[in-house]
Amino acid sequence: MVRISLNVEEQKREKIEITSDVYQIPYLSGISKKTIKTSRNGVNLYSLSCSCKVYRQNVKLYPRRDIRRVCKHLYEKLFSEADHLLDELSKMLLHNQFWFGQSNVKKVLFYKRVVFIGFHKVGNIVSFFVDQDGWKKYLYESDLNTWLESSMPFDNDLLNTELANLSKELYRQIKFN
Ligand SMILES: [Zn+2]
Repeated sequence: MVRISLNVEEQKREKIEITSDVYQIPYLSGISKKTIKTSRNGVNLYSLSCSCKVYRQNVKLYPRRDIRRVCKHLYEKLFSEADHLLDELSKMLLHNQFWFGQSNVKKVLFYKRVVFIGFHKVGNIVSFFVDQDGWKKYLYESDLNTWLESSMPFDNDLLNTELANLSKELYRQIKFN
């Protein structure tokens, strides 16, 4: 079948699709439903909830299991109690959120490849997570149009540039909390 009369926007839509505006931590299979008491708070890894003020505030802002709901207590307990149950991508995204200020994650279908893009409220860094026999993280400095450590997700320069440009476009649309 020969496709004709597609305009540029339609062609782009076929190749790039934002499949999710949030990242939700998958259920941890086999995790205890008991609430873990800490000195000040109660942390539940089954429901992924905490009794602290930050968590309760985040509940109003983000959907269930959204990575942005995770407070420092949940973060700490996830790694001390459930490290073996957490998937690799969730671990990387959680570390990126707590150590590098990632504040939004989008899932994108990019030329049939799944890419998670981590946006940072502060600074001009964008993180890309691509599954290449295991998840790998790539960093792009958007002000300088530079891939950090010259490490790029694809062998194809045009694809790398298009992905970087897409992230800039998406960044402009984000309303940071
Ligand atoms: Zn908490």
